[in-house]
Amino acid sequence: MQLEFFGVIIMYRKKLQLALKELENEAIATLQKAVQIPSITGEEENVQRFLEGILKDMGLETDLWYPNTAELKEHPAFDLVNHENLGKRPNLVGRLRGTGKGKSLILNGHVDVVDPGTETHWVQKNPWSGLIEDGKLYGRGACDMKSGLLAGIFAVKALIKSGLPINGDILLESVISEEDGGCGTLACLARGYTAAGAVVMEPTKMSLMPAQLGATSFRLTVTGLATHGCVRYQGVSAIEKFSFLHQGIIEWEKAREEKIDWSQLFSGYPIKAPISIGTIQAGNWDSTVAEKLTAEGRLGVFLNQSLKDARNSFEDMIADLSAQDPWLAENPPKIEWFQAAWEPAAIDPDHPLVMSLKKSYETTLGRQAVLEGAPYGSDMRLLTIYGNIPTVIFGPGDVANAHFTNEFVLIKEYLDTIAVLADLIYDWCNNQ
Ligand SMILES: [Zn+2]
Repeated sequence: MQLEFFGVIIMYRKKLQLALKELENEAIATLQKAVQIPSITGEEENVQRFLEGILKDMGLETDLWYPNTAELKEHPAFDLVNHENLGKRPNLVGRLRGTGKGKSLILNGHVDVVDPGTETHWVQKNPWSGLIEDGKLYGRGACDMKSGLLAGIFAVKALIKSGLPINGDILLESVISEEDGGCGTLACLARGYTAAGAVVMEPTKMSLMPAQLGATSFRLTVTGLATHGCVRYQGVSAIEKFSFLHQGIIEWEKAREEKIDWSQLFSGYPIKAPISIGTIQAGNWDSTVAEKLTAEGRLGVFLNQSLKDARNSFEDMIADLSAQDPWLAENPPKIEWFQAAWEPAAIDPDHPLVMSLKKSYETTLGRQAVLEGAPYGSDMRLLTIYGNIPTVIFGPGDVANAHFTNEFVLIKEYLDTIAVLADLIYDWCNNQ
């Protein structure tokens, strides 16, 4: 019995390995093509049409539709995603029907990418080159996250090619609008797409991430008193008042982290839930004391902390700081919470889905898998919290390299991810 059992395992691995090998060049070329199709958030249609063709050729049932506000607005997470200007922005789901009773699996990835910035700063002066050099594939979206999405697609393709049976359904979700809040994944949930587990293939450098912290955006407006710069002592500079507040924010960032009993998953990060100021606008003339400053930033949200609690504690901290300053006490700064928000989310690191992925990783690559938490928000929180779908984040590429000039993915990591995901699908979808 034992020998027969191991014989079956060796046979399926051989079949899968052969299929993966045969698809390697095609997988690389297809990723290159996908990167060459610009798809900045809001302009996802062309790449979705390209991917729809691929899923159809694979024999999957496809559903391409245009999410709209009317179908989403009753959803409890509606206010957490950005839902403006949905227009001609299609979502895409491909379904491979399983042959029997097995667990279903969602493989989720977003096609939208962030603005490439100054195009001439990129290799070949082109953010959409798809250039391959020294084992790296360059281009906006190469890392975040067309390589992850294509890895999911090619894992399914390899299984189909291998002829191995798959019992549970596989759903490939190619979604819009992750970068500005997650409207695409929310639309999948609202349309009824669900499964026994999900993998979001965001860049994790192939670490297994069963938890993600949250984030929420704030706008802080500080008022001062304008005077001529030559008598600045008669005015109040909003810039100086903000500088005082900013120092307090940095100290509070450290103090609040020290109070938390952190999971081991986050031990690798020097600052786990950063509070970062991203933009500042102040003043209107060089020799006038600035009477107004507006700063926008992100507030990291801890696991087990609600957005409301995180926001309240930030507001309390700003109020405490303001009470220490006579001007700010009289003229309290205004705080607004705007844009989409990312709630923290986590599943048990020992959940069967994590265990199955860990086993697939270790048997496929012959090395130990690394478990970590994600310091950023992703669509995982929508699937886990609102879809009740146990979800893990796992994909190729380094997030530190995403959203930057000369974003790239290591081709080896991309191909390794395909192999691991194919093994996971086989293991997960063929077991009850
Ligand atoms: Zn991403």
